[in-house]
Amino acid sequence: MKSLKQYRKATVLVHQGEDRDPATGAAAIPIYQASTYHHSGGAPGNFDYARSGNPSRQQVEDAIALLEGGVRGFAYASGMAAIGSALSLLRSGDHLIAPDDLYGGTYRYLTMILPEQGIEVSLVDQTDPQRVEDAIRPNTRAILLETPSNPLFKVTDIRVMVEIAKRHGLLTLIDNTFMTPLLQRPLQLGVDVVIHSATKFLGGHSDLLAGLSTTADPELAKRLKRFQNGFGAVLGPFDSFLLARGIKTLQVRLAAAEKNAQLLAGRLKDHPAVADVYYPGLPEARGRKVHFAQATGSGAVLSFTLKEKEGVAPLLQRVRLPIIAPSLGGVETILTHCWSMSHAAIPAETKQQMGIGENLLRISAGIEDVEDLWEDLSEGLRDTG
Ligand SMILES: *Cc1c(COP(=O)(O)O)cnc(C)c1O
Repeated sequence: MKSLKQYRKATVLVHQGEDRDPATGAAAIPIYQASTYHHSGGAPGNFDYARSGNPSRQQVEDAIALLEGGVRGFAYASGMAAIGSALSLLRSGDHLIAPDDLYGGTYRYLTMILPEQGIEVSLVDQTDPQRVEDAIRPNTRAILLETPSNPLFKVTDIRVMVEIAKRHGLLTLIDNTFMTPLLQRPLQLGVDVVIHSATKFLGGHSDLLAGLSTTADPELAKRLKRFQNGFGAVLGPFDSFLLARGIKTLQVRLAAAEKNAQLLAGRLKDHPAVADVYYPGLPEARGRKVHFAQATGSGAVLSFTLKEKEGVAPLLQRVRLPIIAPSLGGVETILTHCWSMSHAAIPAETKQQMGIGENLLRISAGIEDVEDLWEDLSEGLRDTG
């Protein structure tokens, strides 16, 4: 029989790890709401205690490994738990190089928590490989990547980063949340650990928090497993079930959302109130060539700046359809004011330096009818600019 690995991605999404419950034949893996498992005759079976493993969680861990091409997957209670757990590969005294334009929560972790644990962090513009080379010190251990970046869609060349890392014996880790395994598969480009906030596209319905990671290296997998079990920030059975359910429709959701994002990006670019639009799908996007050498799509998130920051408040008051919130990747359109929401953790001055102004907005396109979305946004932008 064909192993699931041999099928194409849309098929893997639907069939995941186990395509039916081995115990009962159920079409969906049930919510195994149990903390421990009977050791028949005193010997453990496949599962012994739920922190170490649970069939509902196993399903999404297998799914991410299959989708990214890893040897095993790990599911956590949130994307940040996945990132923090992956960074447990570093030790006190190590130095980490990370992007200077990155998810606000990761910024907080790297600048406030890791240094307290004795890990030094340099935030550098990774779109310039020379700056990354220059930042390498004798104690540098790893490079963390996020491309395209959030919210400015700066593109880092993954292959070049892997080449630099290998030359210096460094680990590479990437936050692949924006692209999903359908559009970008970093393990195939030589990255060591891939991380997702599954809260976003993989879950897809704004109804759960989850994080996933995977690696193609069996040794790293062992260390990640040890930390996952030891630290215990695992994904619970119910959220695992929701995530497995969300993953099944990722391909159709993402295709519809990406189409909407492309249309909205094009129209926003021509709108008189709008100064700039950041979206890899636009012909003039910075780093577009590099992006499409490592990814097969533009994704469903875009950012734009208003000519006048005074236009932000009326826009947020007038729009009816988008949920105004810090998140992305749901079936519903999400409008984010990065300054006060997703990147609130970053000091104002630093945000300015990063190019995140008060006039910057981010849209995660949902799968609504795009004409309704556009009418709504146009109404919100009326008389501004
Ligand atoms: C949301 C997000 C995270 C954090 O994930 P949580 O599930 O909220 O903990 C990390 N990276 C990126 C790119 C994100 O969008």
